[in-house]
Amino acid sequence: MKNEYVCPYCRGSLKVDNDIVFAIRTKNEQRGLIMVSPELGDYRFRKHPDLDLKDGDRLETFCPMCHSNLKAINVNSNLAEVIMVNEEGDEYQIYFSEIVGEHVTFKIKDAEMEKFGDDSEGYINFFGV
Ligand SMILES: [Zn+2]
Repeated sequence: MKNEYVCPYCRGSLKVDNDIVFAIRTKNEQRGLIMVSPELGDYRFRKHPDLDLKDGDRLETFCPMCHSNLKAINVNSNLAEVIMVNEEGDEYQIYFSEIVGEHVTFKIKDAEMEKFGDDSEGYINFFGV
C-alpha cells in the first residue's frame, strides 16, 4: 500500500519513507517529533529518547511544515486529522487519538467509515455517518 498522507492545511506530504512525521507538544510544554506508522491500526511510533511520553498523556499535534494544529475541532477535541491519498488519488479523512496509548483511528470518505484500534468504539458517536 503506497498511501500518502498530507496536511489538511498546507497539503504538504507528511510521509517520509515509511513513517508519518508530526511535531507534537505535551501538556508540560515538551516539544518533539514523532514518527508514526502509516499502517492504519498500527500504533507503533518512534521518538527521541528525551521526549518523555506516558500512556494517557494528551498531546497536541502539529504539521511540521506549516505548524497548523491538526486537532479535529469539529469532531472531538481528543482527535487529530490528516488526509490520506491512496494510489488512485482518492482522499480520505483520517482521525486519530492524540492521547498516548489510546488506540483510535477512523478512515472516512463521504458516508463510508472504517474504524481501527481497540478504543475506537467509544468515539463512534462523534461521526455523523
Ligand atoms: Zn501543513
